[in-house]
Amino acid sequence: MASRAAGTYPPVPEPLDHPVVDTHTHLDICTGVRLPLGAGEPEPEVRPDEDEEFPSLDVFFDTAQSAGVQRIVQIGCDLPAARWTTELVTQQSQQGRKWMLGGVALHPNEAPRLAERGMLDDALTEIESLVASNDRMRVVGETGLDYFRTGEEGVAEQQRSFRTHIEIAKRTGKALQIHDREAHADVLRILREEGAPEVTIFHCYSGDEAMARECADAGYYMSFAGNLTFKNADELRRAAAAAPLDRLLTETDAPFLTPHPHRGKPGGPYLAAVTARKLAEVRGMSEEDLCAAVWKNAETALGNWD
Ligand SMILES: [Zn+2]
Repeated sequence: MASRAAGTYPPVPEPLDHPVVDTHTHLDICTGVRLPLGAGEPEPEVRPDEDEEFPSLDVFFDTAQSAGVQRIVQIGCDLPAARWTTELVTQQSQQGRKWMLGGVALHPNEAPRLAERGMLDDALTEIESLVASNDRMRVVGETGLDYFRTGEEGVAEQQRSFRTHIEIAKRTGKALQIHDREAHADVLRILREEGAPEVTIFHCYSGDEAMARECADAGYYMSFAGNLTFKNADELRRAAAAAPLDRLLTETDAPFLTPHPHRGKPGGPYLAAVTARKLAEVRGMSEEDLCAAVWKNAETALGNWD
């Protein structure tokens, strides 16, 4: 990566035999526009120095293209990031650059914070108007439940926010991207109770093989991130092997979840190539066949990119 931070980023892998999509990334955090402070995402173990220069959007674009990650979905998951995302996605499409679609929501850890200040309902209204404002905004996400970082006091507001996001996705005809951390049973139950949107995607899928079957039966997509490569992820790899091929997606959640052996370092969308290779290995498929399948799945789930 061409930046002062070059030493801290994993190398760009060899290009894939067939392109893939990074269906979930945070370029606002990758480029230093936003720090991952309030958003409640897992924080990188290696934090950039205060005066560090972040790589630019173009660097992330170029490295992604050269690794074969030709398309990305930019996700903004608090209000400032959601506004930034909508503006960026609009601007890229006005410039005729077709590589990016967008998604916005209030992260499950953000919902109780806004509720405490009496701002949750207005924020949800703004999320709906942002996602409806542009045809290149295709995703309501990431929303869902996070019982790892939010205690009991936040659960009711998280669930209310999740239910409203489900309604927004259905009203606007967008895909739903779910953040599910240590909340599998409640996420599945609320989806059943509300009726899931036509396209429902488990971002950074973290369930086991049994849950993968349940998701498959319900027609949900399972999107795998860099944690698929982690040493202790055998259960996750079994889930990835068991999921139907036509329900699989690839993503990074960059700058988080950087694949093994660079776990803990900041990453970028280009690292979806590493996860795609791992997915091919786990499923005993050629790189080309696996990548062609997940590329097609991303189009089926999210629509046309041209
Ligand atoms: Zn994310």
